Amino acid sequence: MSNLPVTLADIEQATRRIKGRVLHTPFVPSSSLSERCGVPVGLKLEHHQTTGSFKLRGATNAVLSLTPEERARGVVAASTGNHGRALAHAAKSEGAVATICMSRLVPDNKVSEIRRLGANVRIVGKSQDEAQVEVDRLVAEDGLVMVPPFDDRAVVAGQGTLGLEIVEAMPDVATVLVPLSGGGLAAGVAAAVKGRLPKTRVIGLTMERGAAMKASLDARRPVQVEEVASLADSLGGGIGLDNAVTFKMCRALLEGVILLSEDEIAAGMRHAYAEEREVIEGAGAVGIAALLSDRLGRLDGPVAVILSGRNVDMDLHRRVINGSADALQETAA
Ligand SMILES: *Cc1c(COP(=O)(O)O)cnc(C)c1O
Repeated sequence: MSNLPVTLADIEQATRRIKGRVLHTPFVPSSSLSERCGVPVGLKLEHHQTTGSFKLRGATNAVLSLTPEERARGVVAASTGNHGRALAHAAKSEGAVATICMSRLVPDNKVSEIRRLGANVRIVGKSQDEAQVEVDRLVAEDGLVMVPPFDDRAVVAGQGTLGLEIVEAMPDVATVLVPLSGGGLAAGVAAAVKGRLPKTRVIGLTMERGAAMKASLDARRPVQVEEVASLADSLGGGIGLDNAVTFKMCRALLEGVILLSEDEIAAGMRHAYAEEREVIEGAGAVGIAALLSDRLGRLDGPVAVILSGRNVDMDLHRRVINGSADALQETAA
């Protein structure tokens, strides 16, 4: 494991670096899931993190890892979602300027949310790819420093701090369930958990629609997949054909990846709301969804589930809770 891009020592260092700047989120037992699964199940309530997702850990560690000279030049990213929010907040806290590039198609509420968090917003083109071209231009011409959403050592080490908190809260954890997209969270958490508890299984959960890391692991190299709308919108997007950090780590450290249907993700959100009294977005619900689906097979010890975010449109959330068969389509209409 010591030959992987991010080690336990990197994550321990990140823990010290970001201490006091991110919340140590609660870890609570779920009596309903424990009863259902026949083993203790604990929920890591990371959706209570500042800015509503774990992305603040990685973004904060990345900003704090910059040299004073780099920090003075400012940071840039193309994410309109949780990474964009997190980077805006992390930069502002450290007195750095963040620029978030987004396409003209991004809804106004997302634009104003990023502005509210103190970032410069640059609207360019009609797609995420065109926004990324602007990021590359700002890096090349203006010297801004790009902070990627997952494929970056400092970002992965920051996300890994969540894994150390889980091990402290549940020292006998046998299985950790991690939402998976680009793999920054899964890589960091797996390196942390297995660094401390080598026998613990770490399983990635993602949606059936457009699961880029799963397709890449199956192909044994990063591959592109077609992007499709999903309730778990924070899990969309590719892993990058020139992936340098997370693919290797997920391949070495994950025991498996389980795919969830849209109905199963909706059931996870409903369970979180009705039984645990928590509002979580689709991406944050895949761990609960996997436990409810019985797809994990026999569980042989305590399970920790990461609830990774809560940034869901509340109208969409209400439709999911009310059991609307195709809540997502109604949004698009
Ligand atoms: C980004 C994100 C994920 C996936 O994280 P990766 O590091 O890209 O695998 C999961 N849940 C939420 C809420 C997210 O914002």
